[in-house]
Amino acid sequence: MAKEIILLIEDEKNIVELVKYNLEQQGYRVNTAVNGNEGVRKAQKEKPDLVILDLMLPELDGIEVCKILRHNDKTASIPIIMLTARSEEADKIVGLELGADDYVTKPFSPRELVARVKAVLRRIGGDGGTKVLKSGGLEVDIEKHIVTVKGKRVDLTSKEFELLKCLLDVKGRVLSRDQLLTKVWGYEPSLELETRTVDMHIGQLRKKIKSESEKIITVKNVGYRFAIEE
Ligand code: CA
Repeated sequence: MAKEIILLIEDEKNIVELVKYNLEQQGYRVNTAVNGNEGVRKAQKEKPDLVILDLMLPELDGIEVCKILRHNDKTASIPIIMLTARSEEADKIVGLELGADDYVTKPFSPRELVARVKAVLRRIGGDGGTKVLKSGGLEVDIEKHIVTVKGKRVDLTSKEFELLKCLLDVKGRVLSRDQLLTKVWGYEPSLELETRTVDMHIGQLRKKIKSESEKIITVKNVGYRFAIEE
């Protein structure tokens, strides 16, 4: 089995050593970066399976790094676990526009962090080339372009299909209207007028997937996310 690569972006040497050691014990390959710019560069080049990102970094801080990774196609889908000093910061980071997948507050036990890493990787990846995305009663067959709700076929337009696929692809993470415009319509972000296109299509999509519609959650002032059911 190929070892999963974890990129650790952290400037505190003792934390780097501790985390690296504990992850390597679990069979992960760990690459490190000591500042934000190096972190971004390595994430783009090495395409790690997961990034552990400290919030307080020299040069580019963790928030900036997170934004850059999320807005670049090469790195947008890499899961990110943030390290923060205060739990109040965490709410802003996880689930909001920054789109980190989880966070751990300092000081943390290496065991706790390893457990989070495993949980996020399990949630995100699994069998790799999944062709059917599922959540609750909803099934999206990517190759055949077929969507069913509780076994009943739903006819979606190609944009509605792409929209749903994008929301499911990111495993419950929030996508901003700009991100959806870029992914589904190929627009550059963005004119206010165009983001309404997203709202309109989300509205149509919700009508069509009926019983699953409430799973598409509007995140105020940001965009949308899909509340995935295991
Ligand atoms: Ca730091």
